[in-house]
Amino acid sequence: MKNTKYVFVTGGVTSSLGKGIIAASLAKLLQERGYTVTIQKLDPYINIDPGTLNPYEHGECFVTDDGAETDLDLGHYERFLNTPTSQANNVTTGRIYQNVIDKERKGEYLGKTVQVIPHITDEIKNRVQILGNTGKYDIVITEIGGTVGDIESLPYVESVRQLLWELGDNNAIVIHLTLIPYLAAAGELKTKPTQHSVKMLMQSGVSPDILVCRSEHEINDGIKRKLALFCNVKKEDVIQALDAETIYDVPNLMLEQGLDKVVLNKLDLKGSKVPQLIEWNKFVNKHKNPKYTINIGLIGKYVELHDAYKSISEAFIHAGATNEVKVKIHWIHSEELKAADVAGLLKGLNGILVAPGFGERGIEGKIKAVQYARENNIPFFGICLGMQMAVIEFSRNVLKLADANSIEMDENTSNPVINLMEEQKEITNMGGTMRLGAWDCKLTENSKLKDIYNSEIISERHRHRYELNNKYVADLETAGMTVSGKNPVTDLVEVIEIPSHPWFIGVQYHPEYKSTVENPHPLFVAFVKAGLEHSLK
Ligand code: GLN
Repeated sequence: MKNTKYVFVTGGVTSSLGKGIIAASLAKLLQERGYTVTIQKLDPYINIDPGTLNPYEHGECFVTDDGAETDLDLGHYERFLNTPTSQANNVTTGRIYQNVIDKERKGEYLGKTVQVIPHITDEIKNRVQILGNTGKYDIVITEIGGTVGDIESLPYVESVRQLLWELGDNNAIVIHLTLIPYLAAAGELKTKPTQHSVKMLMQSGVSPDILVCRSEHEINDGIKRKLALFCNVKKEDVIQALDAETIYDVPNLMLEQGLDKVVLNKLDLKGSKVPQLIEWNKFVNKHKNPKYTINIGLIGKYVELHDAYKSISEAFIHAGATNEVKVKIHWIHSEELKAADVAGLLKGLNGILVAPGFGERGIEGKIKAVQYARENNIPFFGICLGMQMAVIEFSRNVLKLADANSIEMDENTSNPVINLMEEQKEITNMGGTMRLGAWDCKLTENSKLKDIYNSEIISERHRHRYELNNKYVADLETAGMTVSGKNPVTDLVEVIEIPSHPWFIGVQYHPEYKSTVENPHPLFVAFVKAGLEHSLK
């Protein structure tokens, strides 16, 4: 059994400082040094999980193999570390309270008054230690969502305080990520907001071990000394985190600043090899020095907020680097494609991706985009709802079923080419009830898919309620849209393609969730390659 060490990452001054990227970068460096590391995110909101949240609220909902709907930071953890996460890696206040209240109803508290301390804090501490107790990890990094000082993060900070005390010196440390703003008028970097946020943390009994300071300008020795004096840390424990050109630079920047060394010292872990980041830097070099540029249209209804499609845009970065291509994403609002000149808006694209989504808004625009890609031989990639739109478009315009639709959009259509899955019919709760997580798919011989994956059985992650209606498969196939992957047990269609088209693929699952720096997803790699071929014509 390993003696697991714990690193807590808190945030001060403002939100959006990139705690997730700092945590993932530190984890990457520790992994390169030979330690097994995992990262956990504690989210202080009351939703049980982000599955019911509108993407405009917190961006994309990430999905793990075990079917957890999670914060998008887990996507960064997986992309950086190339290891899967699970439900245990993301816990919300809602989930904590639900568990405590369930136990109370079962009488497990034996007549005690159930309180924030110790019952809620005990539940938080258990959730933190669940990962450590698996015996699989040398180090567990726990990121506390929100900003120190928020009312809702207080029970988390209190739990950290208790854990620091219980686990003892050298077994648990706190990194506080903060902002050092630059006042242009004064020509100065300002430390006061950081002093205040550290003071706030100390009022809760937690003294940070390391300060990681986001800044637009170099933090000189004088400023480090000042921060050290006011914040109770050593000067060497003040690490600067300058704005980076890409998030993929951050592990290198943290290596230069010695964040991993400071952390290992404090955890009394020594003698490990120095991080080389060889594979990582090969990727970063290719990403920064592309030989070609291609233009991909991403058609969605949340395009104003790019975070709503985080895993897709990152998968393009991985696949772009593999192909030595810069993938320029054109964010196209599906609602705008309805009335406007579709050809005008989509002209010049080397590939069209119709994104996942829910509900009726913007779907006619998505269908128009599919039609344009199909008729003009532009590489087309439909993901989840995007695949369903491809089936609807083909049914309407090739099979001539004018009212073909998904039951999700029109319950009364006489041609429900996309149907509600059988097991979904009795479900009334919205949260956590979709077909979620990893399911197997058997690929068809002689399909483009089988070539791309070079494997017969694949496993991909899902998040949907509707499916291609098997009643229409024979007609679709006769007309030229073929099924190239099915669930081997349920017979549910997982993939369609149009063999006569240069590259036309729709997948019911979400390949974007499994693309990592070290393992770019083969479908994204192939789509970018098709886009490159299109651009060179
Ligand atoms: N709304 C569709 C369904 O539930 C597609 C879901 C998605 O794109 N993730 O089946």
